[in-house]
Amino acid sequence: MDLKVAVAGAGGTGKTTVALRLSEELGAKLVEAKERAELFLEERKLVKEVYDVLPAVDKEKCLRCNLCSAVCPTRAMVRDWEGYPLALEGLCTSCSSCIVACPQGALVGRARVVARIYEARGVLQIEGRDLKALLKGLEGPWVLDADRPEYALFADVALVLYNDARSLLVAERLARFYSKNDVEVLIIENESREAGPGRIPKGLPPRLDHVLPLLENF
Ligand code: SF4
Ligand code: SF4
Repeated sequence: MDLKVAVAGAGGTGKTTVALRLSEELGAKLVEAKERAELFLEERKLVKEVYDVLPAVDKEKCLRCNLCSAVCPTRAMVRDWEGYPLALEGLCTSCSSCIVACPQGALVGRARVVARIYEARGVLQIEGRDLKALLKGLEGPWVLDADRPEYALFADVALVLYNDARSLLVAERLARFYSKNDVEVLIIENESREAGPGRIPKGLPPRLDHVLPLLENF
């Protein structure tokens, strides 16, 4: 079964613990996706670097016609002080429209690292600028410790945790968000707050025992 499960919820609801336990129970890869991943930092090994391209101009060929800026869908292509095009790294999505549009062939794509994949103790860590693209392409089965709510949009099922009235409100909002985006949702009460390396309890927290049969339906 290539099930993709994301564990989401407000901070302090035990996402990391539950994600770890579930990944063991399901025999799935645990995935941690963050701009800066935190688990097992000292032990992790680089598995893969993911590249895309950032356009760069050849000033010998460029006519400074501005066509490349005009076709850029994200307004990433600005002009430098001499009027030559300059792609802003934070806005450029590497769509290559500008490269294709340039009548002079004056733009070339320079490789840049946008994400890195690490592995440590069986945990897959994906770290970088374009985590959404990485998650979309990551084959299951996996259980994601969804640090940011939007990452759960790439799962089949979002397990949304709560452990008090405040986190229940957050869970309900998240559930609406996921349902609208065609992600199945299970809202689960979790009393376990233990998390992180060295503080991981054995077995699923008692109130999650019923989750496994529910997941078998997906
Ligand atoms: S479209 Fe080509 S020639 Fe025109 S400004 Fe851009 S890089 Fe220069
Ligand atoms: S690659 Fe696409 S997003 Fe990047 S500067 Fe060119 S047109 Fe804009």
